Amino acid sequence: MFSRFREHAETAPDAPFLIRPDLSVLSYGAALARTAQLANLLQAQGVRPGDRVAIQVEKTTDALLTYLAALAIEAVFLPLNTAYTPEEVRFFLADAEPALFIHRPEDEAAMADLCGALGLASRLTLDAAGRGTLAEGADAQPASLSFGEPAPDGLAAILYTSGTTGRSKGAMLTRGNLASNAAVLVEEWRFTAQDVLLHALPIFHTHGLFVATNVTIAAGGAMIFLPRFDVAELIRLMPRASVLMGVPTFYTRLLGEPAFTRALAAPMRLFVSGSAPLSAETHKAFQALTGHAILERYGMTETNMNTSNPYTGARVPGSVGRPLPGVELRIADPATGASLPQGEVGVIEVRGPNVFRGYWRLPEKTAEELRPDGFFITGDLGRVDERGYVSIVGRAKDLIICGGFNVYPAEVEAVLDALPGVAESAVIGVPHADMGEGVVAVLKASDPALDEPAVLAALAGRLARFKQPRRVVFVPDLPRNAMGKVQKNQLRDTYAGLFA
Ligand code: ATP
Ligand code: MG
Repeated sequence: MFSRFREHAETAPDAPFLIRPDLSVLSYGAALARTAQLANLLQAQGVRPGDRVAIQVEKTTDALLTYLAALAIEAVFLPLNTAYTPEEVRFFLADAEPALFIHRPEDEAAMADLCGALGLASRLTLDAAGRGTLAEGADAQPASLSFGEPAPDGLAAILYTSGTTGRSKGAMLTRGNLASNAAVLVEEWRFTAQDVLLHALPIFHTHGLFVATNVTIAAGGAMIFLPRFDVAELIRLMPRASVLMGVPTFYTRLLGEPAFTRALAAPMRLFVSGSAPLSAETHKAFQALTGHAILERYGMTETNMNTSNPYTGARVPGSVGRPLPGVELRIADPATGASLPQGEVGVIEVRGPNVFRGYWRLPEKTAEELRPDGFFITGDLGRVDERGYVSIVGRAKDLIICGGFNVYPAEVEAVLDALPGVAESAVIGVPHADMGEGVVAVLKASDPALDEPAVLAALAGRLARFKQPRRVVFVPDLPRNAMGKVQKNQLRDTYAGLFA
């Protein structure tokens, strides 16, 4: 990715790369110069090829350019979720043993203790306004650097998974993983140097860091770089953008804003959704309001993007589209790994230049998740229809087995979401003495009068008896993490005693 970035910076130095909320612009040329300063600083701090550079900071220009600087000197970029506490950060630093750790100045005391205990000598700081020892140190460095042409199989980043199903794992991604996926997505989504991406995702996760940033760089386009998701800011800046990439929450929030109108969305070229399931209801409501069909795609930390709905052709609500060019996808029997016939539900497995090298320092876990023929076992359950479109029915770990029957949460959630008065739903299984697991629907209602008997009655004719929730509980909001993913582990803990 760095060589693409440098290429654009050298051929079109004045082209915009980042547009800040105040509309000031950082050109490709200026971004390259700053990246060189940051790269020189990393080297001065003792960072060598293959060394990890860990970073836990707010989303700023220098934070993003530190990613490019790490690539430039063949270091391994390792971003951490800003929500992690110092106690949680301890695990990641001990696991990754970075040569340098960049953190927020406000965490100074805690991080000094932590790094002291771990024997990590090199630290720099960066605050939300872009100040700190990283920025000061970079200011003092020369704005040029000689770059080599690194091997494509070298490590570019270690990205920790979101920890939705258990402890986060460090996925080792190569330069080739990133570059091949970005090139495919540029083609598939028709990105050009004229595109302006509205960027409101965090940059510690694959969606904001790789999908959004790498695709923009690969096309030579620009990003309106927002420090965080703020629906009013999206609405204010949308007239200057051509593409929005978001998690489903972006779209449900936009739909709730009277200022988000058909006229506002009309000039946009593309709306992309991923990281969590976009409900068919949201897809349809968005299309009814704006005339735009949201393009849903499916990926994960370990593989970048695997499937996408088409740019031209049907974007099917509730489906994540077809495998991307170069990505092989099969539906396998979770127990044996044998391929299942088209139409059956099984575990989604993928192979291609996008698939990671393995989990950092977890050889057993890597061996468990990668088949000998190179297919990665995603842990998601899905089926492929006769047109080749993939639908995800839930994670294998969220599958509910009730009285010996499989209940796929996504199927029940889709029916619930379509009921009047339901805003969002999450379906989980919790221990049940007779059935093994009992199906529980956790709902966020849009109609305060909606109650459990009404929901149960409405489902009676719509779902087979064994799929119908035995209990319906209401919550003000579903628990979601930074990527908008519903924390089903947390819900299972909360309602573990419901049938006791
Ligand atoms: P962990 O692996 O630590 O439990 P995680 O799987 O949530 O966490 P990520 O790599 O951030 O970590 O997320 C990838 C997962 O997100 C996929 O495996 C899938 O379950 C889900 N996902 C991504 N895109 C979609 C989508 N369009 N529809 C449904 N689920 C999606
Ligand atoms: Mg995962």
